[in-house]
Amino acid sequence: MMNKETAFITGAASGIGRATARRLAEDGFRIVLIDRDRALVDDAMAEFLRNGYEAAAHAADVRDRAAIAAAFGAEARIDVMVNAAGIGPMRAFHEITDEDFREVVDVNLLGTFVCCQEAAKRMRTGGRIITISSRAALGAGNFAHYVASKAGVIGLTRAMAIDLRRAGISVNSIAPGFTDTGMTRQLSPEQHAAASALEPSGQPADPSEIANAIAFFASPRTSFVTGQTLFVDGGKSLGGQGV
Ligand code: NAP
Repeated sequence: MMNKETAFITGAASGIGRATARRLAEDGFRIVLIDRDRALVDDAMAEFLRNGYEAAAHAADVRDRAAIAAAFGAEARIDVMVNAAGIGPMRAFHEITDEDFREVVDVNLLGTFVCCQEAAKRMRTGGRIITISSRAALGAGNFAHYVASKAGVIGLTRAMAIDLRRAGISVNSIAPGFTDTGMTRQLSPEQHAAASALEPSGQPADPSEIANAIAFFASPRTSFVTGQTLFVDGGKSLGGQGV
């Protein structure tokens, strides 16, 4: 049983992380679910066990190095690390406080760094790390702290790809566009409609679309690709006019 490749997924109780956990379980990975809320991560675990998947669950905050190290230390192997934990509170530029900025950067950027570093220590040659940045790294209104954190994730991904390439560990990023998850359901109906209208499809992506792209980088067959950011946004990042 322990010979199965193991994929760790943060933010696995909700949205893109949970959809990724489902997709990678279908692909044959043993899944380790990590999220900060014990009840929610247990709920995800119950779903996986009902479906007959091999899984384990840990409640841990990605900023808490000791808790993350303990979760990783409890598992026999780590082949794939998917960093889907994140927060994205919309706030007008002049209203963002230092505390708001620090919290978003701490969770989205420092949290990704902590998990990647702890994962890389334990990975063998052939390990795959996937970060989740965002199309918003190119720019988005009322999200300066979030945009900065996600542009940082892209830089961190490239730096880690260089530092880990001799160890045979690939590091790539997925940059999702507007996706239907717990994060985007927090928007007001007006904000949600405005964001949807900016999408080429006129609607948010289903999280499974993002999970399918993550599965590409999680596959051992694509481990020669490293340092790349793949935009999964229905073409929004291409810009341009027209339908
Ligand atoms: P989501 O449904 O809110 O899922 C994120 C999960 O991460 C939640 O369960 C959340 O728990 C958890 N989390 C937050 N902070 C954490 C921490 N410090 N430690 C551990 N877990 C934590 O949102 P999502 O849309 O799937 O987001 C997944 C990733 O995709 C994020 O990095 C996000 O920035 C990125 N992304 C999303 C979109 C989009 O349109 N949805 C677009 C581009 C990129 P709580 O509910 O307790 O916060």
